[in-house]
Amino acid sequence: MTAPRILVLGTGGTIAGAGASATGAAYRPGGLALEAMLGNLAALGLAAELVPQEVARIGSQDMGWPQWQALHAACTGALADPAIDGVIITHGTDTAEETAFLLDLTLPTHKPIVLVGAMRAADAVGADGMRNFANAVKVASYGRASWRGVMLVMGDAVLAARDARKAATSSIDAFRSFPRGPLARVTPSGLDWFGPPHRLGGAARHPFPDALPRVAILTAGAGMDEQPVTALLGIGCKGMVLAGMGQGNAPACVIAALAEAAAAGVPVVRSTRVDEGIVDRNVEVDDDALGFVAARALGPAKARVLLMVLIANGITKPAAVQAAFDGG
Ligand code: GLU
Repeated sequence: MTAPRILVLGTGGTIAGAGASATGAAYRPGGLALEAMLGNLAALGLAAELVPQEVARIGSQDMGWPQWQALHAACTGALADPAIDGVIITHGTDTAEETAFLLDLTLPTHKPIVLVGAMRAADAVGADGMRNFANAVKVASYGRASWRGVMLVMGDAVLAARDARKAATSSIDAFRSFPRGPLARVTPSGLDWFGPPHRLGGAARHPFPDALPRVAILTAGAGMDEQPVTALLGIGCKGMVLAGMGQGNAPACVIAALAEAAAAGVPVVRSTRVDEGIVDRNVEVDDDALGFVAARALGPAKARVLLMVLIANGITKPAAVQAAFDGG
């Protein structure tokens, strides 16, 4: 049997991080070139042929439209190329959930696409990147990993892009999956799925946009006034995501200003600044009357990604936006 051929798209991050010392805290994300990183992996004897393509060498806090366009184009090519069995994207963990979700929304799912990162630089003592990468190879080269959308492999778990969330700044067990738990447990020698694929027949859910509109996240805080809403509209925001208190709440003056924005045709999505939980319609805020959308299980960062994609595709009416947020 021939080894699976995996396209490896490098973007930088801690998995390709290089520090001055194996025991110091300081390091530079993306300090290690993709070829050098794959060279380090050669000793592992991974049962796959890896085809490297460096897209960027950045900390993922700088990830944005140019890199997303390049990643989407490369994945589209790989999905159409019969010689490629799967795709691994090495990525910083700060925004891995946003890149993963954008690709999940805009790519078909007939081959595995896996993001992988690390919490410790490649040359740090106890580095987790090699194990995470070996796990990602296991997933990307496994046919039954198809039809599950874009996935994130971290800490021996396979998470669906829609559910994955960075929940700790430095522990190697940094990612959580909500509302679904992990799709699978993975180790370099084993892969156990917890259920059947959920994206069968999976065409892309939305066309990949030509450009992304400006959509802001506004975090609510006690005692705030409505002026940040006015300021964000003043710089041309085409959509707003409220990272609200609790069930997506905010002071009455802020809710009133957001309702004015919604009435003027700017989609407003209420999400929560709370770590985890569903924001439902019409609980304390009358979404029906005010023209708001409830983010359901999506946190603010992913709500912003979905709202950008929807607005770019001309979907701005609250009912249609809500239907996309309700989708699994
Ligand atoms: N801020 C960096 C990044 O997201 C480092 C975090 C990481 O990769 O774990 O690329």
